[in-house]
Amino acid sequence: MIRLALVGLGKIARDQHLPAIAKTEGIELVAIASRNATLEGVPHFASLDELLASGVAVDAVALCTPPQVRREQATLALSHGKHVLLEKPPGATVSELAPLVAAADASGRTLFATWHSRFAPAVEPARAFLAEHAPRAVTVEWKEDVRVWHPGQDWIFEPGGLGVFDPGINALSILTHILPAPFFLTKATLGFPANRDAPIEATLDFADNAGVPIRAELDFLQTGPQTWDIHVETAAGRLTLSLGGSKLFLDGTSLIEAPEAEYPGIYKHFVDLVARGASDVDLAPLQHVADAFLLGRRIVVAPFEG
Ligand code: NAP
Repeated sequence: MIRLALVGLGKIARDQHLPAIAKTEGIELVAIASRNATLEGVPHFASLDELLASGVAVDAVALCTPPQVRREQATLALSHGKHVLLEKPPGATVSELAPLVAAADASGRTLFATWHSRFAPAVEPARAFLAEHAPRAVTVEWKEDVRVWHPGQDWIFEPGGLGVFDPGINALSILTHILPAPFFLTKATLGFPANRDAPIEATLDFADNAGVPIRAELDFLQTGPQTWDIHVETAAGRLTLSLGGSKLFLDGTSLIEAPEAEYPGIYKHFVDLVARGASDVDLAPLQHVADAFLLGRRIVVAPFEG
């Protein structure tokens, strides 16, 4: 049984991690480390340092804090011999992951950089379909309202918070998993609110070696219906992954419609990785975001007041 401490008891920890841990065999919640939040019936510590110094028996930590503080926490946990599960994105930079991977390898501990959208029920079927039917063109529409999904989360518009790439990286985590060939950024435009340090909208153009065009439109100010869709044109028809990977359609006909089970999938995989003494760190989605910051033309858009 893996004795797990959850670090950063915020929105995603409460919405998804707690219920998923509770229903996963082989793992149990034994402590919370969070500066302000507590959970009834579970030992609480104000920081990861306090937790590790307390001597409470913990095998693993799940870091549900914002990306800007995770490298330090992961380094500390690994140095104390703990397995580490990282929420997405795995860090605030790409290069900060290499020392973590090295530390996990050296200590024989598991480091798992999670991509929750890859565990959505229609993702594996989409990958299998595209292995048989080559993509001809891809369009991504990832448009949500930051005021609804991230109220009061100032870190998201601070350096390293990724802005609209915080949700947009979920689309990239799906694309890098389902498309049969690697792809690269050719052009990007990023809209930065005049008063913020991270983009609130982005348009990205990618291609692969065969010249298949991939266009992604990301927006963090979508009102009305929210859109998390990927469309792939193939000789067999138009494949649509909808609602963040939970539904799959071919030319509008439903192929898959299954209940959401992303986080149980994450914890099942974590338990398996620990049992096998393995790690799972794929940085491809974060590399694409870094490329967008490198290559993207920056425009200034209206200030965002929250
Ligand atoms: P959140 O609600 O702000 O929760 C993060 C928690 O971490 C905070 O409640 C806070 O708890 C702690 N924290 C914040 N700043 C910290 C700091 N500087 N040092 C140490 N602890 C700090 O954010 P969230 O929405 O849960 O997102 C956390 C991560 O999960 C992000 O990387 C996000 O991309 C990912 N995620 C979010 C969602 C979603 O729908 N919100 C979905 C999937 C993945 P204390 O004040 O108690 O320490």
